[in-house]
Amino acid sequence: MTLRPLDLDPTHCLIGGTWAPTDAGETLPLIDPSDGATLCEIARGKSTDIDRAVIAARAAFDGPWGRSTAVERGRILSKIGALVLENTEALAELEARDVGKPLSQARADVIALARYMEFYAGAVDKLHGQTIPYLDGYTVYTLREAHGVTGHIIPWNYPMQIIGRSVGAALATGNAAVLKPAEEACLTALAFGELARRAGLPDGALNVVPGLGAEAGAALTGHAGVNHISFTGSVATGRAVQQAAGANVIPVTLELGGKSPQLVFDDADIDAALPFLVNAGIQNAGQTCSASSRILVQRGVYAEVVSKMAERYAALCAGPAMSDLSVGPLVSMRQKQIVDGFLAKGADLTMIAQGHIAEDAPAGGAYVAPTLFEGVPADHVLAQDEVFGPVQVLIPFEDEAEALAIANGTAYGLVASVWSRDGARQMRLARALRAGQVFVNNYGAGGGVELPFGGSGLSGHGREKGFEALYGFTTLKTVAAYHG
Ligand code: NDP
Repeated sequence: MTLRPLDLDPTHCLIGGTWAPTDAGETLPLIDPSDGATLCEIARGKSTDIDRAVIAARAAFDGPWGRSTAVERGRILSKIGALVLENTEALAELEARDVGKPLSQARADVIALARYMEFYAGAVDKLHGQTIPYLDGYTVYTLREAHGVTGHIIPWNYPMQIIGRSVGAALATGNAAVLKPAEEACLTALAFGELARRAGLPDGALNVVPGLGAEAGAALTGHAGVNHISFTGSVATGRAVQQAAGANVIPVTLELGGKSPQLVFDDADIDAALPFLVNAGIQNAGQTCSASSRILVQRGVYAEVVSKMAERYAALCAGPAMSDLSVGPLVSMRQKQIVDGFLAKGADLTMIAQGHIAEDAPAGGAYVAPTLFEGVPADHVLAQDEVFGPVQVLIPFEDEAEALAIANGTAYGLVASVWSRDGARQMRLARALRAGQVFVNNYGAGGGVELPFGGSGLSGHGREKGFEALYGFTTLKTVAAYHG
């Protein structure tokens, strides 16, 4: 398989501006989750490939790329964004087949990737330091400087969006990046590498090395030549990444998912809330770090919300990515087994509604019917653990205090939303909810690239997206000049 229309060979990786096989020449099969067939073989990068990529990135950082101006970098990012948009359909199809994402959701991810490039292209020349009033005879100012070589470990659920928010901000600020995409979905990462090359990004400023997490991923996060790590994925791997980064005493940004609640009060506009309540749980088949897997509903409207959500669930249909239904397959049979395991743990719960799997869905696909449980105790495993599949739980509550206690009652803290017409309640809860983003009478706000994003607790730490990411991908230097 070549990656149309770029004519890329996915058994190659991009190091120092050159596409070539890995040192060992080994490959891994890439499976199409819609039917279980092998899509193609991909490069299986290992530590020596990562080593070469880090050396290439260092050379780029020590060369003209590291000395480039914000304006020059912004122009290159603009060109990358334009090339991404020009290739929208090809990229969307790659992502849909690779991840199992319904085609229109994949198309939205392409647009988001282009938007990240546009945003960081326009933002980076507005990033500046400060002058600090100090002792007589001194002039003191701060400089924002790139870290150097940044490592990016991205997962399989939103490859393009996560490349946009992490690699985009890293390149904008003048870092040289090494990107290790997930073995289960790496095609658009390879395509992005080629588009960046074609846009004029200097050799080595972006290197893309696919491979296994335990091999290429661990080699990157433990590499002594890397100055910053950005990781999105599971809590278990995040811990390992933080430990590896700790050994080299480098900063790490961790985005580890969540158990994000929507709080629906008696005074909410239920019909306005409904599409958000459901879509936030089933978008990308629930494999979204900011998925809303818990719906907390006040007693006065509980029965209405249960019945209206159940009605919507009954109409949901999971099918092949290219059929573009409401839900695609999960990314892999491995992920399906994880989600099926959670569903088995819900055997003691009331399943109020379930979508169905399309009749023409191939038997080898990783399909799970979207499933809704109601009356779920707040301490149940399905109300506490990240399922990462199309599964939502409804939890009733009496009053605001109870809603807040339940909402904050997990180990995560990524996203939350409040549905209420009471302005004072909106403001109280926006402050009291433990989450990196709080939405009022919406969920996700359309995913705006401008909005800083990240969590606390087991959801991780550090912020990406928005202007804030430019701070994260730079380090601050203070200059104190004595001139008498
Ligand atoms: P992982 O956290 O293991 O994978 C995420 C990324 O980390 C992938 O690129 C993976 O590579 C890489 N990786 C794996 N091990 C290491 C390591 N030791 N050092 C460095 N990088 C490594 O997630 P899984 O794919 O195993 O999914 C399991 C669960 O994680 C899901 O069920 C879900 O709950 C959660 N998850 C959360 C995500 C989020 O957005 N918050 C995204 C993905 C998963 P490779 O895949 O090639 O092995």
